[in-house]
Amino acid sequence: SAKRAGRGRYRFYDASLNTGNVEAFHLEQGFAEALRSHQFVLQFQPLVHLDSGRIDGYEALVRWRHPHYGLLYPDRFIAVAERSGFIVSLGQEVLRLACEQLAQWHEAGLETSVAVNVSALQLAQPEFADTVLELLAGLSLPAQRLELEITETAILQRESPALDNLHRLRVAGIGVSLDDFGQGYAGFAHLQALPLTRLKIDRSLIAQLSNSHDDSLIVSTTIILAKRLKLQVVAEGVETREQRVHLRLAGCDLAQGYHFSRPMDAEAVPAFEEDFNAEKVKVPS
Ligand code: C2E
Ligand code: MG
Ligand code: MG
Ligand code: MG
Repeated sequence: SAKRAGRGRYRFYDASLNTGNVEAFHLEQGFAEALRSHQFVLQFQPLVHLDSGRIDGYEALVRWRHPHYGLLYPDRFIAVAERSGFIVSLGQEVLRLACEQLAQWHEAGLETSVAVNVSALQLAQPEFADTVLELLAGLSLPAQRLELEITETAILQRESPALDNLHRLRVAGIGVSLDDFGQGYAGFAHLQALPLTRLKIDRSLIAQLSNSHDDSLIVSTTIILAKRLKLQVVAEGVETREQRVHLRLAGCDLAQGYHFSRPMDAEAVPAFEEDFNAEKVKVPS
């Protein structure tokens, strides 16, 4: 179409008019320095077992303390990092930060686990599995304490080393969660072929739980099928007690969301564990 042809031709002209592109340009220019001066930080959000009420572990979520834009959330910069290829270095930094935090918690007597989001390009690096295993070995961390969260797009390209990496990491004992399930292609057909341990049901499906019969059917069907595949099921974005009860009855194993806790700084985690466990004793669900 003419619009499509024009996009390439007027690329620089467009960029100067579009604040989104200007921001993307500035962010991209700042990536390398941000890495050098440790502007990327992690927050942690708990995953809770619905039956026991026990905390399973924490998902690490990256934030960027930007000198001009303030605290940036991933929706603002992950796509830019993916387009520029910087996501590979950023992903490596996130893995390192997450594992170092985990080692620190273990040293302090807090035995937990951490889940790290991995993007398609990162997983497709031939040396990805080696890098992860070396990182764990260097910190004397058991592989069972680390989980990787991937999305369907990461494993759709059959020609990439992504699947090899996943198999190697699974054999080593690292957990692999399929993130945002139900948001994209949502095909069950190829799930069986993937070395997964968990399925995370996307927040958009959980949000509909109490007001749409169709979506509750999709959620319960997803839970049943996931169990047939011997996968643990995690509900994302659980915000209400009603959703929590519904999910528990539907057989969902774990949940994550504002109902339990917003993502928090690492320093807040030990106190959160104490309060959460004390609360559980006082008010059994
Ligand atoms: P995700 O992996 O699906 O992470 C869950 C997102 O949902 C997080 O947003 C979290 O703060 C948010 N969330 C959790 N509970 C609730 C809830 O009850 N209600 C609502 N409305 N939201 C909730 P966040 O931290 O902004 O991250 C967004 C996405 O950015 C992540 O989605 C993930 O895809 C990506 N991301 C985050 N950190 C990394 C990273 O280190 N590497 C890569 N490649 N992607 C990352
Ligand atoms: Mg995730
Ligand atoms: Mg998700
Ligand atoms: Mg999501």
